[in-house]
Amino acid sequence: MVDLKKSYVVGDVTVHALRGVNLDLARGTFLAVVGASGSGKSTFMNITGLLDRPTAGRYLLEGEDVSGFDRDLRAQLRNRKIGFVFQNFNLLPRTTALENVELPMLYSPDAPSAADRHAKAQRLLDIVGLGPRAHHTPSQLSGGQQQRVAIARALVNDPEILLADEPTGNLDTRTSIEIMEVLQRLNREKGITIILITHEHDIAEYAHREVTFRDGRVVSDRLVQSRRDAAQERAALPEEEAVT
Ligand code: ADP
Ligand code: MG
Repeated sequence: MVDLKKSYVVGDVTVHALRGVNLDLARGTFLAVVGASGSGKSTFMNITGLLDRPTAGRYLLEGEDVSGFDRDLRAQLRNRKIGFVFQNFNLLPRTTALENVELPMLYSPDAPSAADRHAKAQRLLDIVGLGPRAHHTPSQLSGGQQQRVAIARALVNDPEILLADEPTGNLDTRTSIEIMEVLQRLNREKGITIILITHEHDIAEYAHREVTFRDGRVVSDRLVQSRRDAAQERAALPEEEAVT
């Protein structure tokens, strides 16, 4: 991203959400984005995820300037490359975990057969450790389990980039560690680039690199010195009810 800017016009007020962001992100990085509320984190994520486009500046994705892409081009690229996870899970109620994960496949241009959809959704639920709960609806799942379903759903189109906006914002410490374990594993084993927005500095310590936003600018960009290992931490936690 080169001198990336985003302004919103609301009535006769212009809000400068991003005021010139410069950022170079290597494939396979696990990036944490921190900063106070209103500092521009979500705006940054929406542009990174091709949900929105900048007002000025350039966004080069694999060398291609995508900042001028229209809605359709962005949607095409987004469907191929990017998965999203949000704080509130955004699952359909009264719909099983399996069906929630299958849903995005129905909208993909080369929609797989029903059998292939089921098989893939089940495999993704297995990856996030939720295979045995495939037929539960969100109300029958804990917050952490719902977030795992959301992560599985985000993986449906085999994204290269996973964007997570406050994915542990509604979760307790233990559950947060479990979610970070899933994200660290996807990054390490599948090489997925992860961009994680959080306002908690201890969550940022699971990443390789941490950038801090303030008033629409990056005010700090550093490598995480002693990176936390969620798998190790979870193994050291006292036993609780089994996750399956
Ligand atoms: P964060 O995610 O760090 O809390 P945001 O990116 O959501 O920050 O917001 C940055 C600034 O842009 C805030 O002042 C916010 O009010 C404003 N903003 C965000 N989205 C919009 C929008 N759609 N319309 C108008 N203002 C917005
Ligand atoms: Mg936000």
